[in-house]
Amino acid sequence: MIIVLKQGTTRQEIDYVTNVILSKGAITVNPMIGNDLTILGLIGDTSRLDPAQIESLRCVERIMKVAEPFKKANRMFHPGPSEVKIGDTVVGGSKLSIMAGPCSVESEAQIEEVAKGVKEAGATVLRGGAFKPRTSPYSFQGLEYRGLDLLVHAREITGLPIVTELMSPYDIDKFEHLVDCIQVGARNMQNFDLLKRLGQTRKPILLKRGLSATIEEWLMSAEYIMAGGNENVILCERGIRTFETYTRNTTDLSAICAVKQLSHLPVIVDPSHATGKYWMVQPLARAAIAVGADGLMIEVHNDPAHALCDGAQSIKPDAFAEVMADIRNIAKAVGREI
Ligand code: PEP
Ligand code: MN
Repeated sequence: MIIVLKQGTTRQEIDYVTNVILSKGAITVNPMIGNDLTILGLIGDTSRLDPAQIESLRCVERIMKVAEPFKKANRMFHPGPSEVKIGDTVVGGSKLSIMAGPCSVESEAQIEEVAKGVKEAGATVLRGGAFKPRTSPYSFQGLEYRGLDLLVHAREITGLPIVTELMSPYDIDKFEHLVDCIQVGARNMQNFDLLKRLGQTRKPILLKRGLSATIEEWLMSAEYIMAGGNENVILCERGIRTFETYTRNTTDLSAICAVKQLSHLPVIVDPSHATGKYWMVQPLARAAIAVGADGLMIEVHNDPAHALCDGAQSIKPDAFAEVMADIRNIAKAVGREI
């Protein structure tokens, strides 16, 4: 339930209404105090409230039911777009956020070369997998803790904040200490224990859409993190399973429009995993920005032919620079900047 308060409502009145609600028990109140609008977002057993009593309070403009099961992630709880900070960069503001780097960190020389290349081309965040969720147990599993150290080293030399995937709740303390943004991969989108644990941190979380997850399931996973108190969630559309096999996944760009309508959370697109083909990255990156994505995540490798993971969908640093130049024009056309 949402309670919209009248313009000019004082702090004292907000506290009064809040206390009336809290006195019913089993309800939490999330205030959103803006310049023009103050709303109280209620979570819990709102059947305990008498709507007539609430509406009779002088400062209450109106009350609204929230039909969707996601509350904190709901646009009704936060009518303006949310901004999430990763290091010194902001995701969800007017400036687009471009995360780029290799699928996996493979060596010091590789991550250094790619990190410098993407930084020079204008990336705002460096990505790189240290723990890899591979379909086969016989495939390269990532450099693990050594990979994390190499990412930290790459941050030191480029100044770019780093995002990398966390697979196990056991490593959260380490990730919290070392990285700027924690990625939850598609395969872990509904690992609810992991999500609950991430709700207790205040690190930004990049939540990728599950392989076959509906938009509502995806937003419910964001809700798990937010319900724990961590509202720093960024969504990432990375393609979904359909009957089509030509592409690795089907890029669901309409999901960006849906998420923007349903939620206030920033949402970016990963055209690399969404297509599986290096030559589709540029056109899909354009399309993603055109439909209103807040940024991109792109796999960049210095030697895609010999990449230990996802070479077929990785572009070289010079091609990445071309993508950056290209989307600058699209961004301008839709009122965004890079
Ligand atoms: C990745 O970003 O390297 C990755 C494994 O992505 P996803 O979880 O979307 O498959
Ligand atoms: Mn990958």
